[in-house]
Amino acid sequence: MDDHRSSVPWNTRALWREANTSLATTVRQNRPGIAESRRQARQIKRLLESTFPHMDRLCRRTCPDCTDACCQRAWVWADFKDLLFLHLAGIPAPGRQLLDPQGGHCRYEGPAGCRLERIRRPFVCTWYLCPAQTQRLRKEPAEMQVIQTSLRQIKALRQGMERSFIWAVT
Ligand code: SF4
Ligand code: SF4
Repeated sequence: MDDHRSSVPWNTRALWREANTSLATTVRQNRPGIAESRRQARQIKRLLESTFPHMDRLCRRTCPDCTDACCQRAWVWADFKDLLFLHLAGIPAPGRQLLDPQGGHCRYEGPAGCRLERIRRPFVCTWYLCPAQTQRLRKEPAEMQVIQTSLRQIKALRQGMERSFIWAVT
């Protein structure tokens, strides 16, 4: 368990601040060169926002009766692509990494669910469909198709965004 905890990036206040400051500076100093990655980030934002009404609807139908909330046992954190997306799209990063060295589960999990706006959550939190949600979506194949297509496009765009950013700044 300790090994896993220490593998979470930027899991102290200081490291999180340093990562965000450094990324903000790199973005500010390379504006013309990172035009492509910023375009990809805007596209990701549009696609994410298009999935949120579907996700909200799904959550309204499944989460209120859930007895094993995923966020209470989730072992997830913001990775480089998540932070990069937020900085390129001009969205404020969460105040802290989701997990800290002592944390057993996500610090943003609250009594009424996640305390972060969807757009600020790590992509894995949008990408993950729990078994109850998957089961429900199987009865609505058109809805399933819309969500899965968007998630696949976002995943590919995130890779492209990271690649073009690294290419531009190194
Ligand atoms: S997403 Fe699924 S596992 Fe998570 S709280 Fe909702 S119903 Fe439960
Ligand atoms: S950020 Fe929100 S959705 Fe993601 S694990 Fe934490 S509480 Fe759950």
